[in-house]
Amino acid sequence: MTTHDEAAAIASVPTGLFIGGKWRDAARTMPVDDPSTGKVLCEVADASPEEAMAALDAAADAQAAWAATPPRERSEILSRAYALLIEQTDRLALVMTLEMGKPLPEARGEIAYAAEFLRWFAEEAVRIDGGYMTSPNGQARFLVSRQPVGPSILITPWNFPMAMGTRKIAPAIAAGCTSIIKPAAQTPLSTLALVEILAEAGLPAGVVNVVTTSASDDVMTPLILDPRSRKLSFTGSTPVGKHLLGLAAQTVMRTSMELGGNAPFLVFEDADLDAAVEGAMAAKMRNIGQACTAANRFYVHRSVAEEFSRRLAERMGALPMGRGVDEGVVVGPLVDQRAVDKVGTLVDDAVRRGATVRTGGEVDGRDGYFYPATVLTGVPADAEMGSTEIFGPVAAITEFDTEAEAVALANDTPFGLVSYAYTRDLDRGLRVSDALEAGMVGINQGVVSNPAAPFGGIKESGLGREGGLVGIDEFLETKYTGIPVTR
Ligand code: NAP
Repeated sequence: MTTHDEAAAIASVPTGLFIGGKWRDAARTMPVDDPSTGKVLCEVADASPEEAMAALDAAADAQAAWAATPPRERSEILSRAYALLIEQTDRLALVMTLEMGKPLPEARGEIAYAAEFLRWFAEEAVRIDGGYMTSPNGQARFLVSRQPVGPSILITPWNFPMAMGTRKIAPAIAAGCTSIIKPAAQTPLSTLALVEILAEAGLPAGVVNVVTTSASDDVMTPLILDPRSRKLSFTGSTPVGKHLLGLAAQTVMRTSMELGGNAPFLVFEDADLDAAVEGAMAAKMRNIGQACTAANRFYVHRSVAEEFSRRLAERMGALPMGRGVDEGVVVGPLVDQRAVDKVGTLVDDAVRRGATVRTGGEVDGRDGYFYPATVLTGVPADAEMGSTEIFGPVAAITEFDTEAEAVALANDTPFGLVSYAYTRDLDRGLRVSDALEAGMVGINQGVVSNPAAPFGGIKESGLGREGGLVGIDEFLETKYTGIPVTR
C-alpha cells in the first residue's frame, strides 16, 4: 500500500454533515487521527447542537413518506447498497484501517459482515407480519399490525465503525424509520462513506442523516430529549449506556442497548485443544482484542492448563505487529494512547498480584498506539482485569478444578454478553450453555457474530437484540385494532 493509495482513499470520503439528502459544512471541524502513526488523516465537520438539530428536523419531516414507501422499495434500496458495499470493499477497508487501525484483512472482513446486515434486512423488509384473531368470548376481532416506531437516533462506537452502523441503519430502513446516526468522533469516516453509498443506492432525502461531533453529550442530549425522537439505539460502553437510558426515560423512548462485555472462555479437560487454541485466538485477537465479544477471562481445567497456555503463548508471541496497512500484520495499534495506558496498567496490576507473563507485557516505544499480544497465567481472582474489559490483546488465564467452579467463575460478573466453552461432551456443552448467564454462547467456536442470529446481552450488557429474526422488531411498534363482531 502506497501513501498515495492511502491519501486517495481518505480524500474519497465526504467530510460534511449529511442532512436532508445534502452534504453541509459545519462552522467548525475536528481532526481524525491514524492510530498507527498518531498523525491527522483529515478534518471532518464538528456539529454544534443547532446544526445537529437540523438532522432531527430532516428525519422528522421525512418520516411519514418513508413509512408509506412500499416495503419492496425499501428492500431494493438495501439490496443495491449491499452490492455497492461489496463492490467497494477495497476502498472502504483501507479507510477503516486508516481511521481505526485494524489490519486490512480484518477490515475487509468487517465490510463483508457489515454488508450482510444490508442483505439480511433487505430480506426482512418484505416479511413484516401481523395477526388476526377472534377474541376468546367471540365478540371481537383483533387486528394486529406493525408500524415503524418513528425517527430514531443511532449512536455507534469506534471499534466496528462500519458494521455497527449497518446493524442499526439497515433494520431502521427496513422497518420504515428515518434516522440520525452519530458515529464515534474517532472513526467518523466509515459512516460518512456508508451514507454516501446509501444515497447512491436511491435512499430518499432525510431518511438517514449523519451528525459528526466532538461534543457528543452537548449535541445529542437535546436530540434525545426532543419528543419527535421515538427510538434510541446505542452501542458502546455500559456507563454511557446507563446515562443515555436515564435521558431516554424522560420521554419514555424505546431503547436498544448493546453495551460492554466481560466474556469468559472455558476450556474443559475433555476439550479438543487444537480447536480451543484456534478459538481462543479468534475470541481474543479479533479487532486486536477491542471487541465487546472479546474473551476477557480464560478459565482452563488444571489438567490441560499448562498445555493450553504454552500453545496459546507460542501463537500469540509470533504475531507480527505493525501498521494495519502493511502486509502480514496481525496486531495493529490500539485506538489511542489512553487505551495503551489502560491495558498496561491492568497487566502491571495482575503481575503485581502474582500473575506470570508468558509472552508480551511490554510496550516497545515505537510511534503509534501499540501494545503487543500478551499471555498471562495464574491470574488471581482479585486482579482488576477480571472485572474490567481489557479491550486489548491480553489473554488472562486462570485454572479451575470442577465444572461447577468454572460456571460460577464465568457468571461472577455484572456483564452477560457472550460466553465461550470448549468440550467434546455434547451433554456438558448444553448443560453449561444453560447455566451461563449470557445473551450468546459459543460452544466450540470463538466467534458468535452473525447477521442472521440475534446479537445482544443480558444483565449490564444491554437490552434488545440486533440481527436475526427479531432484529427488525427493535424498530417496530405493535398496534392492535379491535373490531366488534356483529351478527
Ligand atoms: P463509548 O465511549 O460508550 O462511546 C460509544 C458512542 O457513544 C460513541 O459514538 C460516543 O461518541 C458516544 N457517546 C459517548 N458519550 C455520549 C453521551 N454522553 N451522549 C451521547 N453519545 C455519547 O464506547 P466506545 O469506547 O466508543 O466503545 C467501546 C465500548 O463499546 C466497549 O464497552 C464495548 O464493549 C462496547 N461495544 C459493545 C458492542 C455490543 O454489541 N454489545 C459492540 C461494540 C462495542 P464519542 O466517542 O465521539 O464521544
